[in-house]
Amino acid sequence: MTQHELRDGAPVYGNYINGQFVPTASGETFEVRNPADRDEIVAHMAKGTADDVNSAIEAAEEAFKSWSRTGALQRANILYKAADLLVQRANEIGRDLTREEGKTIKEGIGETLRAANIMRYYAGETLQSNGDVYPSANPTTMLYSIREPLGVVGMITPWNFPIAIPVWKVAPALAFGNTIVFKPASAAPLCTMHMVQALEDAGLPAGVVNVVTGPAGAVGDAIVNDPRVVAISFTGSADVGGHIRALAAARGAKVQLELGGKNPAIVLADADMQHAAQQVMAGAMNATGQKCTATSRAIVDRRIASDFTAMLQERISKLVVGDPLDEATQMGPLIDDASADRVVREIEAARQSGAEFVMGGERPEALAGGAFITPSLFTNVTSDSRMGQEEFFGPLLGVIPVDDMDEAIAVANSVKYGLSASIFTSDLGTAMRFVREIHAGMVHVNSETAGAEYQLPFGGYKASSSYSREQGKAAVEFYTQTKTVFMDPPTPA
Ligand code: NAD
Repeated sequence: MTQHELRDGAPVYGNYINGQFVPTASGETFEVRNPADRDEIVAHMAKGTADDVNSAIEAAEEAFKSWSRTGALQRANILYKAADLLVQRANEIGRDLTREEGKTIKEGIGETLRAANIMRYYAGETLQSNGDVYPSANPTTMLYSIREPLGVVGMITPWNFPIAIPVWKVAPALAFGNTIVFKPASAAPLCTMHMVQALEDAGLPAGVVNVVTGPAGAVGDAIVNDPRVVAISFTGSADVGGHIRALAAARGAKVQLELGGKNPAIVLADADMQHAAQQVMAGAMNATGQKCTATSRAIVDRRIASDFTAMLQERISKLVVGDPLDEATQMGPLIDDASADRVVREIEAARQSGAEFVMGGERPEALAGGAFITPSLFTNVTSDSRMGQEEFFGPLLGVIPVDDMDEAIAVANSVKYGLSASIFTSDLGTAMRFVREIHAGMVHVNSETAGAEYQLPFGGYKASSSYSREQGKAAVEFYTQTKTVFMDPPTPA
């Protein structure tokens, strides 16, 4: 493993280019701070530039020549070995994940182990069929299609799943023979470095994966605008996704966008209310509500709305907010103070707009060293309010009472997003109607909105996605292109 110089007790990382951690030409760095304790510096990262991106793309282009011709089993074995290393290092990586992102240590270690499983899944995919054979109009022609890698792929990721999201992009791209230039979010870039270290230690050749950290505009746009980067996989907010879509479209690059959500959970009067309350709370509050698939709207049959709100309140008030490295903590801080302050402002605006405040929204004095906020619950939220429409990306849940299933579906579908959605009911016909009528890419019956499994397509409808999907077999579509082959004998028979 590479030993990194320490400054103020924290490791100093260069960009990872052509198999080496190298400083930027200017030598400039930026600090990654622990959101639970803003006095703690977790790492110093390189403040990358467009020149660094250029070097990374050059390395990736060169490495593509051999990596794209590397045998499938060799690619698989590197991914299997890197997965084993992630498992061996899960406690250390999970701890760093918690220190840079703020989710609880249980969630941090769990995410690292999930990343290892994603690597294993794509190691297995390298040996799956990569084409189809067809009958031809001409009986002596062998007609088939074969999937080939794209080339250099650019990747830009958010901070909220700092190891799972990098791995669910990098693992399939590598499995199918691509090389990579990667920019992680500046708030939580350390886990991406743990990922590349595991890949390097597993034998990944130099230049196959390159990471440039630093300013979103300078580094991100340099990746997206470079014609040598043939495809871009982006996960993040709808606004930045729109900007990337425009840049990629202008030069005809393949692009995949996984964006925000405003995910509903419909709770009907025939649901198991205790189960629904537990699931809706978990969907809203796990990972401090900072999941694209988090539940932020509980759309509840008016007849049970008051009882259901009380059940939620009882559960939410028991959540232990505090140091995420403490095993007893159930909710850590938000990613930074600006996010916590933004959530406080949204709570105030919701109160002003007439939604009924139930609890939460405090910045606890005892936790003043970090970006902590207590989880919030509102009821009698109207669907056309900001709380009914906008992604807040924090531990906030709004209950929207409705008269019947028609109104529940209409409200659920009334937002610009369509990532994930749930219904809680004991009626099979109602559940099937929900699956048919909901505009969402991922649909749950009697479970929370945030459950995802890596063997399945992941992505949304409407503004949540770009009609492409990640993970599972869907990744083959994005990270490969199809060649159709007509094979005839040298001399016609
Ligand atoms: P963000 O859009 O602010 O940033 C995402 C990434 O884009 C970061 O690496 C950032 O540095 C980079 N970026 C910002 N401006 C850029 C520019 N001009 N050019 C190129 N790159 C640029 O999002 P965030 O705050 O990091 O993450 C939260 C958002 O991500 C939420 O909206 C959430 O819903 C979404 N998200 C979606 C999914 C999904 O799979 N659908 C998963 C996780 C998070």
